[in-house]
Amino acid sequence: MSGLEITGLSKSFGGVCALDDVSVAFPHGKINALIGPNGSGKTTFFNCVTGMIRADSGRITYRGQDLTGRPPHRIARAGIGRSFQLCRVFPRMTVLDNLLCAVQPRTLRAKAGRSHSRAETERARHWLTRMGIDHLERAEAQNLSWGQQKLLELAGVLMSEPETILLDEPAGGVNPALIDRICALVSELNAEGRTFLVVEHNMDLVMSLSHHIVVFDRGWPIAEGPPSAIRSDEKVLGAYLGV
Ligand code: ADP
Repeated sequence: MSGLEITGLSKSFGGVCALDDVSVAFPHGKINALIGPNGSGKTTFFNCVTGMIRADSGRITYRGQDLTGRPPHRIARAGIGRSFQLCRVFPRMTVLDNLLCAVQPRTLRAKAGRSHSRAETERARHWLTRMGIDHLERAEAQNLSWGQQKLLELAGVLMSEPETILLDEPAGGVNPALIDRICALVSELNAEGRTFLVVEHNMDLVMSLSHHIVVFDRGWPIAEGPPSAIRSDEKVLGAYLGV
């Protein structure tokens, strides 16, 4: 089934070409990974797809819908959610309030003059329980470990019920026990029908978790396929070893 499809995506920063006419598709319903050496364009790709930055050229479609040039909230509304490499939580807000904010920004709520519904609070608690951090709902987010903050951020993404989730280095800086928890969650959520696109440096994780891998080098996809094919691909080995 067609999912996220990118055609001819290019982006330069001054004289630096970060994405060079990239055409790539990520199958819907799968756990996809995007890997590549530092500076190969992965973050720029994520930022273009989620509308954080505007590509110079190219087309982005999702489930047949043209998302090219759409702002982030329109892309989110189309069903694509995203986490960040450097986790985005409100550090001095409680864990529960972080999730309630993810549903509707406080300022908008204040203007609308309404408080959170019981259903929103129930849903926030549901996701905290799924993440295994429900016992921390009254803690300030800044008092959580880095891995717990990543789980909180993922719970925040899930509050808007995206069918596709882009994860930027979910295991970066996270202790091994919580990495296992994050992997198990991604697998469970995928089995429930959510599609993933994961940028991650931990190759063991990428190889064990993903169904489909795309490899970038210097702003360009040099290989794609299942982990078994990527592991032994000479271009991929060359990109990582610099040969
Ligand atoms: P990756 O995520 O794979 O490490 P990036 O997308 O961050 O790669 O970077 C790709 C290239 O674009 C790099 O050469 C990087 O220095 C450059 N780049 C990324 N963002 C900017 C920016 N805002 N300004 C200038 N150059 C940038």
